[in-house]
Amino acid sequence: MTAETTSRDFESSPLSVVLGAKNATALEKAFGYGTVGEFLRHFPRRYVEVGELTPIAELPFDEHVTVVAQVVNISQRQMHSRKGFIFEVTVSDELGDAGQQLKMTFFNGYQARSDLLVGTIAMFSGKVGWYQDHLQLNQPDYAVLDEASQADPRPIPIYPASAKMPNKKIRDLMAHLLEQMTQENLPEFLPQELLDTHHYPIRHQAYANRHSPRELKHAYVARQRFAFEEAFLLQLSLAERNRQIGTQHSVARPRRSGGLADKFDAQLPFILTDDQQQVGREISQDLELNHPMHRLLQGEVGSGKTVVALRAILQVIDAGGQAALLAPTEVLAAQHYASITKMLGALADPGLFNEGEGTGVALLTGSAKTAQRREALLGIASGETGLIVGTHALLGEQVRFAELGLVVIDEQHRFGVEQRDALRAKANDSVPHTLVMTATPIPRTVAMTVFGDLDTSTIKHLPVGRAPISTHIVPMQLSGYRNRLYTRISEEVAKGHQVYVVCPRISDSAGEQGVLLATYEDTSGQSMSVEKMLELLGGLPDFESIRVQGLHSQLDSNDKQGIMDDFAAGDIDVLVSTTVIEVGVDVHNATLMVIMDAERFGISQLHQLRGRVGRGGLPGTCLLSTWLDADHPSVNRLRVIESTLDGFELAEADLAERKEGNILGVQQSGSQSALRELSIIRDRALIEKARDDVRALMAMPAWREKYPVLLATTKNWVDESTREFLNKN
Ligand code: ADP
Ligand code: MG
Repeated sequence: MTAETTSRDFESSPLSVVLGAKNATALEKAFGYGTVGEFLRHFPRRYVEVGELTPIAELPFDEHVTVVAQVVNISQRQMHSRKGFIFEVTVSDELGDAGQQLKMTFFNGYQARSDLLVGTIAMFSGKVGWYQDHLQLNQPDYAVLDEASQADPRPIPIYPASAKMPNKKIRDLMAHLLEQMTQENLPEFLPQELLDTHHYPIRHQAYANRHSPRELKHAYVARQRFAFEEAFLLQLSLAERNRQIGTQHSVARPRRSGGLADKFDAQLPFILTDDQQQVGREISQDLELNHPMHRLLQGEVGSGKTVVALRAILQVIDAGGQAALLAPTEVLAAQHYASITKMLGALADPGLFNEGEGTGVALLTGSAKTAQRREALLGIASGETGLIVGTHALLGEQVRFAELGLVVIDEQHRFGVEQRDALRAKANDSVPHTLVMTATPIPRTVAMTVFGDLDTSTIKHLPVGRAPISTHIVPMQLSGYRNRLYTRISEEVAKGHQVYVVCPRISDSAGEQGVLLATYEDTSGQSMSVEKMLELLGGLPDFESIRVQGLHSQLDSNDKQGIMDDFAAGDIDVLVSTTVIEVGVDVHNATLMVIMDAERFGISQLHQLRGRVGRGGLPGTCLLSTWLDADHPSVNRLRVIESTLDGFELAEADLAERKEGNILGVQQSGSQSALRELSIIRDRALIEKARDDVRALMAMPAWREKYPVLLATTKNWVDESTREFLNKN
């Protein structure tokens, strides 16, 4: 077309140059794409073979499907209550009346009315629903199959699409791109030897095969190639990051005997578990080196990670450094601060003029008052404060450290690489050591893929004396169980214990209802809200003298803190909340966790929530309430949680479940991530292969000089969104 499109760098050309301004704007609006490369990586989810009509009787209910069928009947009716009309189409999988039928409706379907005539064969995509007595698709996306496409037996790609950018349009635009693409303007960057070994097509050919395969197997191989490419780039960029970290300088912070760390160990009211001692040694040894520690500490909620981190912090302070502990929420930061100062006791007190034997410990969050804030900042800058605990407020520009030696990050899922790096950049001229803590067990493949640049330490066993948690599913359809659920809460309070009740949402606002109805997602009715639960408990006679309080993210942070403090102090008996309490909250007297409509939460999330109880030596109970039938697939999921307390087992189950989600095509697209084809669940073997190949490449002399394009492509390849994406997929 134009000069630019023939240049070597087709992929970085703006879409407007190749497809025109109007199409480019539409693609930008629909998917956020700006360049040819981004759109080329808009890969089909699946393909339809057009030779035959799709057997309608075999369509899975409640799933997104694509059907090739023939229109056998059309009709139109006026809306009663508002303006507009409904165009109804009946399609069949056989000509005439013989076949199975499927109905579809188009609200104000002007376009459908002119496209879909009796006898037309078309491909329809939508979610299969049941309406009155027949199967139906609502507002399906469709493409009329003309004579030509019926004669050409190529599989038809089905793309992630939208109403404004339907499948047909994407196919047309893509065909146009493919015409412009050549081996010259879309060069290969993977080493040829790798392509040969794995029998992968060269890059531009792979694009052609993925978007417009002559046969399905070509599309499959092309998919493999791109998944491999992504895995390879990811592994290579992680390896490069590792190498860089290895060359960075950190101040060595060896353990000093007779220091705060020793005093702290001597005053610990319990004996460290074997795991805690082991990971403690690993961390301590890392800190002795003059290049940065980069370690992930994983262990279940309550496994005693904070103590381990605190020992590392004290070692660093003893060696003249400061530490920053970064928590994902204000509530957690405040709680860490409270429990740490309590554990440290006199050691958290530098005394006036630093004559005390301890170190300053300060809290800095976004909601801190000006004076408080100034004092905290001053302590950090002067070095009087050895440990600062805070939220991302710590990343702020005014925060200056005298000598930052260690960054501890709690719950790494909430922080990206960039934020980690922002905090690490606050060290003077060397890189601080980093310890990342997570309570979500990370399966091996994920660890290796997403966190391949971190060393890992694991606390497997909880401290002894930790009481077991028993978990039960409560079928709410049965009134006996339902009533028993509320009685259990009041009984627990009568024993002097406290109770968490977690609901999937805050309120029953019209807005939320509207959304639910509009998506046709939800047939089981509304889930329990915090507001509704408060109302419900307030109306029960048993609860008259019970102190019930609501907590959710929309409250102002001082109120939230006040409520958490009251709950921790025992001034609230029953805390009804959303998942704001999910991470790390520690109230020993809480023994019962009730989760309403538990099927709305993920496996890992439920496991985390359950970890809130049974922490103070008292046995804990977790009740998973659900209105679903016992044989509903989501109830099976709850059974998995009921059956084990092993976080790693649950993390694997969680992954496996999401894998099913992917196979069914439920996976959302539109992510701006560089990862399009790779799924850590499906592509486990591929990732290991890529890892080996990266090792081999890096062992080659002068590989950097030999593969400059590869190296350039790898730079900054792993960004925050990529990790987030991987984490969810
Ligand atoms: P995590 O941060 O991993 O959720 P914490 O460090 O908060 O766990 O520990 C949970 C509770 O267990 C705390 O009250 C802590 O004081 C206590 N604890 C930690 N280690 C031990 C141990 N070895 N023996 C007994 N109690 C411990
Ligand atoms: Mg914790």
